[in-house]
Amino acid sequence: MLRSLLLRASTRRRFSLAIPPSLSLRRCSSRPSGFANGTFVEQLEDANAAPPPSAKISVDRSGLYNVSEHSHEPSSDSELVKHLKSIIKFRGGPISVAEYMEEVLTNPKAGFYINRDVFGAEGDFITSPEVSQMFGEMMGVWAMCLWEQMGQPSRVNLVELGPGRGTLVADLLRGTSKFKHFTGSLHVHMVECSPTLQKLQYQALKCQNKNDTGGNAAENIVSTIAGTPVSWHATLEQVPTGSPTIIIAHEFYDALPVHQFQRASHGWCEKMVDITENSMFRFVLSPHPTPSTLYLMKRCKWAENEEIAKLEQIEVCPKAMDLTRAIADRIGSDGGGALIIDYGLNGIVSDSLQAIRKHKFVDILDNPGTADLSAYVDFPAIRHSAEEASENVCVHGPITQSQLLGSLGINFRVEALMENCTDEQAESLRTGYWRLVGDGEAPFWEGPEDQVPIGMGTRYLAMAIVNKNQGVPIPFQ
Ligand code: SAH
Repeated sequence: MLRSLLLRASTRRRFSLAIPPSLSLRRCSSRPSGFANGTFVEQLEDANAAPPPSAKISVDRSGLYNVSEHSHEPSSDSELVKHLKSIIKFRGGPISVAEYMEEVLTNPKAGFYINRDVFGAEGDFITSPEVSQMFGEMMGVWAMCLWEQMGQPSRVNLVELGPGRGTLVADLLRGTSKFKHFTGSLHVHMVECSPTLQKLQYQALKCQNKNDTGGNAAENIVSTIAGTPVSWHATLEQVPTGSPTIIIAHEFYDALPVHQFQRASHGWCEKMVDITENSMFRFVLSPHPTPSTLYLMKRCKWAENEEIAKLEQIEVCPKAMDLTRAIADRIGSDGGGALIIDYGLNGIVSDSLQAIRKHKFVDILDNPGTADLSAYVDFPAIRHSAEEASENVCVHGPITQSQLLGSLGINFRVEALMENCTDEQAESLRTGYWRLVGDGEAPFWEGPEDQVPIGMGTRYLAMAIVNKNQGVPIPFQ
């Protein structure tokens, strides 16, 4: 997967902070603005007079976002591609893979997740909650057992990080809706950056606004599945603290931006994204240590020397470390626990970043914003970050998804569902079950070869971070 990496000259294309002539500060009053969009300077009173003491000169940075009119970029470039190229140009050098990944996935205007539904057969990839209702139902079993261990508190924040279409929480609430004490204690918090997906989540949870006058206060929105209030937030920090919290992060960590490092003759160098003379993206190696090298050093301290010695590349995810600290802090002081499920390794990750478009692997640099980017989750880094952040939490796992769902009772659930269903539904249950807990290709498959269900049971791992007062959560005993 790794492309050839080019060690580039350190000083080439460095504009430093000098503003390119076409964008320099200008005074203009009588003269019309010379630029097409005319938004570069705040106008002063008189071009020839000295500015009065109170006059302010400021740069409108919107020009930095949209440079297409001043450059020779291919006009077919998407908005996101233009944006990425403009960052690289105005920064005066390449950007880290992490910055590239973050822009590609969550740029507020044109990021991969922002404007469309990327899930399912028609989308780019499929996730466990979309494969079968049993996944969300098992998450309900886990959450309810933890709530029991917490002493059945009357008020609990149930947080999902990156809820996609909202299917997991919808199935969780439907599956537990008979247990009114449990669902009655919940306030659901969806942490989601995409306005499009927020709308889909609102529909999936069958939400209603209780306030007829249209007030949008968080407490007014209720999921009619189990009568629980639902709120949306862009980050975990925005979720109110002070109540015991159950956090579920399914395929969220893998979307957090990773920095990639490559071993070179003079030490570890960060892999960066640059543009060629032909205006194509390419990878290069930073000749100097970059700020994120601090995270690399931190990650290496948590590993055995022999583990590092074997590697030519290392990926680190500072955002995952920071998020885990925030989770552990919250659970350490408010009580509760978090369940993190993702594909990843119980060891340091070398080179896992991948791009998937329409269910196929594609080049990471090809048409950014139209393919999902994701990386393996480094579970030991989560463990160490949580343990460092709070003395009040215990970390359990990772165990495989197959072990997790098996111990939570998915076998009984699939049998119960099979008892009362059509042949078609039975087929879908069987393949869904295999996808969730199986390992490799389904042995019973008789359909087209290119559609053989692939089990995710051992490729996906689960880890729990739980307040020590709650004891060991199921099924990590
Ligand atoms: N958990 C869902 C979706 C996984 S895809 C499922 O299993 O089906 C990742 C989800 O995280 C999407 O909903 C995406 O919009 C959201 N997301 C990605 N990065 C985010 C960020 N930095 N902040 C908030 N949400 C993010």
